[in-house]
Amino acid sequence: MSEALSWSGGTIPVRRSKRKTVALHVRDGAPELRAPWHVSDTDLKRFLSDRQDWLNRALRSQAEKREQKPDFSQQAHCPLMDERLTLQLSRGARSQWRRDQDRLYLVAPLLDKPHVHHVLADFYKTQARFYLTEKTLQRVHTEGWENHLTDIRLRRTKTKWGHCTATGRIQYNWQIMMAPERIIDYLVAHETAHLLHPHHGASFWNEVTRLHPHWQDDRRWLHDNGHRLWL
Ligand SMILES: [Zn+2]
Repeated sequence: MSEALSWSGGTIPVRRSKRKTVALHVRDGAPELRAPWHVSDTDLKRFLSDRQDWLNRALRSQAEKREQKPDFSQQAHCPLMDERLTLQLSRGARSQWRRDQDRLYLVAPLLDKPHVHHVLADFYKTQARFYLTEKTLQRVHTEGWENHLTDIRLRRTKTKWGHCTATGRIQYNWQIMMAPERIIDYLVAHETAHLLHPHHGASFWNEVTRLHPHWQDDRRWLHDNGHRLWL
């Protein structure tokens, strides 16, 4: 059941459930309250007032990040790991791409952002299929973890760069191909370490440190710059 609460800062959707505590979430620039069934509107309003500064900051920072998302139909270059490819856009009935050294030729029916990004998505997915698969298999072979890995999948996920299931299926967000190579290698180290350590506990981070010693810097880079890699 959807519910909305009016308070001094506007109107906010409230999602009630069996949860035990109240939480304020902001996703895609839209705030939402999650609350237990029994909490009164007065208490929710007080909760929001106490967090008004936090909420304003979160909304501002998400708006800034949205503005920093690339629009490659307006740019002369696009990143591919540590390379910078020169974009050559032209119109044609069929969407396609062709790479020739440091040039990337994109053909699309229209040269606006949705069409250009559609072709680019195919390009990055293809790069990811080669590079991420190869890197992951290499890691797994070097460590002798073949029996733990069951599958590698590529997806465009909303909030995550990678994921490893309890059954040994590793999933990557292919947009990571826009990041520098060391960042991609950190992601591969992170997900393959999950094959043996399905958690973020000390033994997991020890493994990551062994596989990719400077993971802290790279993790921070991804946290600070990840939003620039969204097509
Ligand atoms: Zn993890």
